[in-house]
Order: sequence, then C-alpha cells, then structure tokens
Amino acid sequence: MEAKTIKKIGVLTSGGDSPGMNAAIRAVVRAGFYYDIEMYGIYRGYEGMISNDIKKLESKHITHVLERGGTFLKSARSAEFRTPEGRQIAYNNLKSHGIDALVVIGGDGSLTGAHLFYKEFGVPAIGLPGTIDNDLSGTDSTIGFDTACNTAIEAIDKIRDTATSHDRLFFVEVMGRDAGFIAINAGIGSAAAAILIPEKKMPIEHLVDKLRIRTKAKKASNIVIVAEGGKSGGATEIAALVSKHLPYYDIKVTILGHLQRGGSPSSYDRLLASKLGVSAIEGLLQGKYDVMAGLINNKVVYTPIKKAIVDDKSVDEDDFRVAKILST
Ligand code: ATP
Repeated sequence: MEAKTIKKIGVLTSGGDSPGMNAAIRAVVRAGFYYDIEMYGIYRGYEGMISNDIKKLESKHITHVLERGGTFLKSARSAEFRTPEGRQIAYNNLKSHGIDALVVIGGDGSLTGAHLFYKEFGVPAIGLPGTIDNDLSGTDSTIGFDTACNTAIEAIDKIRDTATSHDRLFFVEVMGRDAGFIAINAGIGSAAAAILIPEKKMPIEHLVDKLRIRTKAKKASNIVIVAEGGKSGGATEIAALVSKHLPYYDIKVTILGHLQRGGSPSSYDRLLASKLGVSAIEGLLQGKYDVMAGLINNKVVYTPIKKAIVDDKSVDEDDFRVAKILST
C-alpha cells in the first residue's frame, strides 16, 4: 500500500486498562516527535473521539509516565462508537483537528473498532496489543500481561504463607474471562496444585482426586488457581463443590480482581511497550495500515488486525504438561 502523507497522529487507549499503556503512549509520542509529527492525545478512548476530548500533546505530557501503571489518557468503553452514527461524529472530530492517522492501544474490541473505522473512513490505523489477557494473535505477549502475572504470583506467594501455616486449601481466582494465560503462567510460577482455565474443562472429580492424592502425600499447602468465569464457574463455585467432597479441609477463596490491572509495569512490559510504540509510528509512515504491531521471537511483526483478533490464540499444550508434572 502506498503511504499517505501523515503529519498529525492521534493516540488513544481503550477497553480494559493494562500496566504498560503509559509506556506505550510515551513511546508512540516520542517516536512521533522524532519523525516531526504533531501528536494528539484522544482522552477516554473512542468516547473522547466522539466528545471531541482531543488535545495536542507536548513533551511535558509524557514526562515520568513510563513507570506509572494505568493510562494518563484514561480508558473507556464506548457504546456509541459501535454505531455508524457515533463513528461519523468521531471522524468529523478527527478531521476538525486535521488528524491523518491513529494509534489504538487496547484489546480485541478496541482493535476491531480501529479496523472498522479504517474500512469506513480510510483513516490509517495501527493497533498495539494493550491488554492483560494476552488473548491476541500476532504477538507472543500483550502489553500488561507480564506485569499482571507478576502481580498475581506475588499475591499467591503471600497466600501460600497463610495456607501453609493453617493447612488450608485455597482457591485463588485470577483474571482472564475467555483466556487462561494468566492462570497458567501464575499457576506454574507459584507451584499451584491445579489450574482451571476456560479453554479446558476439568471434571470436579478429577480435581478432588488430585487433592486427595496431594493430601496423602502430606503436601504442606494446596492452592488451586481458577481463571474467572471458567467453564466450571469461578473460584467461589468450584470451592463450594469441592468442599462437599473434602469436608475436612478448611477452604478459603481469594479473588485477586482488579489488583492485577494496576501497578508499575515490569521491565519486560516497558521494553515491549517501547518497541511497539516506535514500530507503530514507523509502520504508519511506511504505509502499514489496519495492522497490529506485535513482537514474535523478539522481532516486530505487523499482523492484519482482522487476523490478530480472529485467530484463536490458545494456551500452549506444553504448559499444561509442565503444570501437570510439577503438581503431582
Ligand atoms: P479488554 O480485552 O481489556 O476487555 P477490549 O479492547 O477488548 O479490551 P472492549 O470493551 O471489547 O475492550 O472494546 C473497547 C471499545 O472498543 C468498545 O467500548 C467500543 O467502543 C469499541 N469496540 C469494540 N467492539 C467494537 C465493534 N465491533 N465495532 C465498533 N467498535 C467496537
């Protein structure tokens, strides 16, 4: 595709926030300045595009944001942007600022919005994978996933102390409504007794058997990791079912929740966000539109947004094997 002349680029964060979004915005804006482009911050995702909450960014806006969690541009979910009328208003607002292209940082929904917007109005857009869920293809890891796993592991380590002191059985619920990436990583990284994820159903009898075997083996503590809303229900539901089979256990449930979205990004997320932020600007200048920039084997790869969001990225079978070997 022939590159259009791009002089003004808008950047936004959308959907669920993730640690490293600020680092990504900062890299996008710095790279924009490097290539003599005027940069615009669109506040509250697509909502700000519709309400015209758009401001020219200067160096001072991105000072000391790299290390901060969340997103200083704020994030939101916009129902209006899902309608053609809403997108028309958003387009008119972009034009009123003379914005020629967009960088959208968010999850699959946000990237779908960017794809539609490009199809309807021809506004060049590049997506960056900003979500803790790691559920986008075209990148080994999404921005925020590594930090979320670290946060979960740190919390589980603390739970392990109390679980061991009281011989308790803990069910810890981590985020990942449709994807068990955080659960499997945090589970392996914290020596979980079992890991329940949406992609794989584990019959309750199997789980109970596993826990019985571990009890016989006199394991000091048992922590089961449950991805929220997995096929068998969340941690509370699973714990209730298991308690019927193992009445002698003191069972506790901890839901980590939004804790996993916050905090200063890990070194990996900072590096990922920085590399992808620069690649977003360079990609747009090279005429790469309607794509997501990702990192595969430490190389930047541009994947068509449609492929990045549709391709089912699944938890590695080998990770299950490792988890199974290590939890017996
Ligand atoms: P996360 O993975 O963290 O939930 P996400 O980007 O997938 O992030 P969504 O709520 O699915 O979060 O999408 C964010 C926003 O993107 C929506 O509020 C909406 O404005 C826009 N969007 C999502 N899907 C579409 C669509 N099909 N058409 C137009 N806009 C969309």
